[in-house]
Amino acid sequence: MTFRDFRGRIFVFGKSSAFIFLIIFNSFPTMKQLILKGVENLGLNRLSRFWTRRCLLGLCYHGVVQNQSPPNDARTRIAVTVSQLEEQLRELRKHWNPVSSQQIRDAIEKEIPLPDRAVHVSFDDGYSNNLLLAAPLLNRYEIPATLFVTTNFIETQNQLIWSLELHERLSVFSGTQLSLAGQLYSLDPPETPKRTEQALQLLQIAKSLPMADRETLLQFLRERTKPDLTPKWKRELYTFLSWDELRSLQKKGIEIGAHTLSHPILSQLQPQEIDRELRESKNRLETELNKKCDLLAYPFGSENDFSDLVVNTARNIGFRLAFTLQEKRNNAQLDAMRIHRICIHRELSLASFQALISGVRNALFQQQDS
Ligand SMILES: [Zn+2]
Repeated sequence: MTFRDFRGRIFVFGKSSAFIFLIIFNSFPTMKQLILKGVENLGLNRLSRFWTRRCLLGLCYHGVVQNQSPPNDARTRIAVTVSQLEEQLRELRKHWNPVSSQQIRDAIEKEIPLPDRAVHVSFDDGYSNNLLLAAPLLNRYEIPATLFVTTNFIETQNQLIWSLELHERLSVFSGTQLSLAGQLYSLDPPETPKRTEQALQLLQIAKSLPMADRETLLQFLRERTKPDLTPKWKRELYTFLSWDELRSLQKKGIEIGAHTLSHPILSQLQPQEIDRELRESKNRLETELNKKCDLLAYPFGSENDFSDLVVNTARNIGFRLAFTLQEKRNNAQLDAMRIHRICIHRELSLASFQALISGVRNALFQQQDS
């Protein structure tokens, strides 16, 4: 917990002593873990699960890796380890009722109710590690899952989705300063944990820029950086599935949905581009997998990343269930084109995961902390 975060939170939440109390707890991870374990042991998670039992919980994963390597590198934050995924799936099997996308559709369209404590598991982007490392665990714990794939990247080598490319290039850029959105940022040495963290923060700023400015930044970095994608951990993290691998996942019972062609921020696109990103990714999946595709996950998926126009276009094209990343659980009254999901990443200890998905943790702590 940095001094800046600490100050930031006081600034955001004002000077109420209750908030300051929570902020102090946020600053001591060990104390926080003890509290979260106490929350589980006292049965608060169970109570919260009961209280919210009619709410559908959506979970979104991305990559799964054998080991987190190198440690404290923000580029690996998006991936969970195999052992993390296993303990989380075991938890879901034990206390929750995993449901498929089809069951959610049936709940909405045919009024076949979902079980209490329903949880939906999905994986975004289309990484090869989903087949190699996640699929066997999903099979072992009999947990249905949906994969949302960015179709332009399937079967490609050494290509990164633009946001990961930006994170990668910002992490290796040799400069000591960078001007972004009219502000000058000092940079730590390249390829250090601090730099990868800074790169992640700069990426968040870049995401709010107009597309043309972001392209200019990417071009600037492409001319000055040459990321090495050959280390084993990067290959494990970044390699995309092939079409044959996707067909094999489909045969294993995994549902496959669209995640656009190129992973844009859909709300920033012109109407005809929104239509193309959605329609062509759907068509490609239907051709390659020989199956109707009516599932969609909006790239990035937060409130600002898609719009009513995006939702209406998706519905008109034929998508019947669409998933967000709005970090909240769903009301009993489901909105088919806005099924919310919570993003799961590597910082979560088991106690944090338990408290996060039961809803206790958000009441106590900030989302991004372990
Ligand atoms: Zn994505």
